[in-house]
Amino acid sequence: MTKKKEVKKLYNLPSEIFFCKECTISNQRPRITFDKMGVCSACNYKKFKKKNIDWQQRETELLKLCDKFRKNNGEYDVVVPCSGGKDGTFVAHQLKHKYGMNPLCVTWAPLVYTSQGRKNLDSFINSGFNHILGTSDPVITKKLTYLSFKELGDPFQPFIYGQSNFPLFMALNYEIKLIMYGENGEVEYGGDMKNAYIPTRTIKDYNKHYFSGISPDFWERYNILSKDLYPFKGPSDDLINKKKIEMHFLGYYKSWDPQENFYYAQKHCGFSVNDERNEGTYSKYASLDDKLDGFHYYMAYIKFGIGRATSDTAHEIRDGKINRDEGIQLVKRYDHEKPSKYYNIFLEYCDLTDGEFNEVVDQWRSDHIWHKVNNNWKLRKTIWEE
Ligand SMILES: [Zn+2]
Repeated sequence: MTKKKEVKKLYNLPSEIFFCKECTISNQRPRITFDKMGVCSACNYKKFKKKNIDWQQRETELLKLCDKFRKNNGEYDVVVPCSGGKDGTFVAHQLKHKYGMNPLCVTWAPLVYTSQGRKNLDSFINSGFNHILGTSDPVITKKLTYLSFKELGDPFQPFIYGQSNFPLFMALNYEIKLIMYGENGEVEYGGDMKNAYIPTRTIKDYNKHYFSGISPDFWERYNILSKDLYPFKGPSDDLINKKKIEMHFLGYYKSWDPQENFYYAQKHCGFSVNDERNEGTYSKYASLDDKLDGFHYYMAYIKFGIGRATSDTAHEIRDGKINRDEGIQLVKRYDHEKPSKYYNIFLEYCDLTDGEFNEVVDQWRSDHIWHKVNNNWKLRKTIWEE
């Protein structure tokens, strides 16, 4: 039996678990904060935005930004990271058709494409976009996915490296100074609020906010060669600063509503949803591209007690789509669901046995979140028993 991971220490999690009074998120989400009334930073940010933001003023700022970066020589003037999902599609389509930009859309390939995900990417491209797909060496990607599942309790880390760095590579290659993202997940869904009132994303936050404090170089100690890590590493901070490449969030300039983006993408770019809900939740329209992403969400459930249904209900409550009681029932029903549809594909991809999978999972169950009752793992605290 291998040693338990120190989840609490690694992510600086509070020992005492409680839930936001307004949504379904708990204080175990890394970097989230709560006010004295027990309301989370994401709920407060949502209220702040509703009350205080002058969206007309923000649109004026967006127009200025576009004017600053617009090239009138026919070259690309903005990189839009877009997998063909609802959010990137909204960003790309708005920039091209409403703001007259010439976007280069880029996708970092999922680990294992779903047919639905690939279909949506094709529909998006076919609706009229220039696009580049980045694919890293599958042999190395598989090794890294296995290692990061085992060592970080999240198989998605290598994908996140590529997804974060590929747009920077493309911006450098094509001499594009602007990269436009969708929403700032860190502030919209709960996390470090220091960037809540500015439109940009900085490469300096990458390690902390997106890479769990582990930079791609870390994997050299597992005998992954530096040259094999190249596509995951990305260009240096110095080069990005020297070239004056800026990363902005469209969610700063325009009111951000995932469900509205879904309707928009459906209408303009042929986006379509799964026939069935995603495992671990009730939604059908988010994160459809990768057969393995259910394991990323499942590991968040194991490490933080926060599954995919918790994340989905928390933002839908904030967006006024469902109420908190409905959210709690959905969490109770779906959050714990272990992904089974692509389980064998995941095991094969990582070269794992069922026993090894379960051993890794159990190592990431922190004592302050889990205990055993009649030999079954149970959460110590749930939102429906609170
Ligand atoms: Zn909340």
